[in-house]
Amino acid sequence: MSKIPFNKPPFLGNEFDYMRKAIASGHISGDGVFTKRCHTILEQLIGARKVLLTTSCTHALEMAALLLDIQPGDEVIFPSFTFVSTVNAFVLRGAVPVFADIHPDTLNLDESQLERLVSAKTRAVVPVHYAGVGCEMDAILAFANEHNLAVVEDNAHGLNGTYKGKPLGSFGCLATQSFHETKNFSCGEGGALVINEPQYIERAEIIREKGTNRSRFFRGMVDKYTWVDIGSSYLPSDLLAAYLCAQLEQWQTIQARRRQIWEKYDAALQDWATHNDVRQPFIPFDRTQSYHMYYLLLPGLTQRQAFIARLKDQEILSVFHYLPLHLSDMGMRFGGKPGDCPVTERISDQLVRLPFFYNLTDEEQERVIEAIISQPI
Ligand SMILES: *Cc1c(COP(=O)(O)O)cnc(C)c1O
Repeated sequence: MSKIPFNKPPFLGNEFDYMRKAIASGHISGDGVFTKRCHTILEQLIGARKVLLTTSCTHALEMAALLLDIQPGDEVIFPSFTFVSTVNAFVLRGAVPVFADIHPDTLNLDESQLERLVSAKTRAVVPVHYAGVGCEMDAILAFANEHNLAVVEDNAHGLNGTYKGKPLGSFGCLATQSFHETKNFSCGEGGALVINEPQYIERAEIIREKGTNRSRFFRGMVDKYTWVDIGSSYLPSDLLAAYLCAQLEQWQTIQARRRQIWEKYDAALQDWATHNDVRQPFIPFDRTQSYHMYYLLLPGLTQRQAFIARLKDQEILSVFHYLPLHLSDMGMRFGGKPGDCPVTERISDQLVRLPFFYNLTDEEQERVIEAIISQPI
């Protein structure tokens, strides 16, 4: 029996050809032809003022923290149920993370907690669209406006998802995308900073180019290129952009196949889930998801671990996801303690993600489904 991995990076076919073209063009550093093609596609998909490819979503988040001028002691509100980088990018600037719990249905930041968590030091809130299902953006934006907070969307999962008809990534002043190989569209390691408020564009270009005005110099807007601000090297090679471009150009093909896989899991596991007290994903009626993952919530940790072990016996890899950040070593250094975010603590023990990737075959998916429904929990 062959192994079914949890993830395989997507591959559509034009990747080699585009990378070969990038090499032949003699330009493989950043901001070449393919980077610009990716920018255009992403700006159209998200409806953003400006998109800049970055070396990762982590780095796009770091750029967001720099652009917001986060200072030591500033507080930033995050869901505890997220990836380390969402928080680390701000902690690198000296921010104090404040952790909010999540909704038990969408697993997204619970906006009703913002009132309790905000203080005079709060500068920003960073919602994460978990599994590419949008957060309650109306309520989050209204709260942020009222308290003069910046909103940065961590949209690593959510490209092509919508909230009330508007693309995820278009709500915050800034948003970030990931093109890591586990994401819907990928170039191995990569990301993007999405800029929705034009006042950030010029400084974002400078920060991304080592603190220099190189981008403006190349556009002929300044006559010398020099050090003007703090910054780092956040632009990816055009070779990676070429790989990514081949995928973004065919986003509809990738999206359609992922939707098919997601819907097949959801329909095929419904009876089994109902009979075994297992919860399937919940998508509110006013949102379309990005089909980033298929997860199940088992009754508890024991059942979840047994489920993963049972699939592993059949050469099928399923995985759990985020551990509560407020209970990590770093989170506890910031004062996190058990009971702070009870929903996150419970969900983290219950959640399992099924194999889910563009090139998953029908036969492989049927094997996964059969392995699950052939046994009770
Ligand atoms: C994957 C992921 C990141 C980090 O993305 P990289 O491109 O690997 O840096 C950040 N936030 C969330 C929610 C993610 O899932």
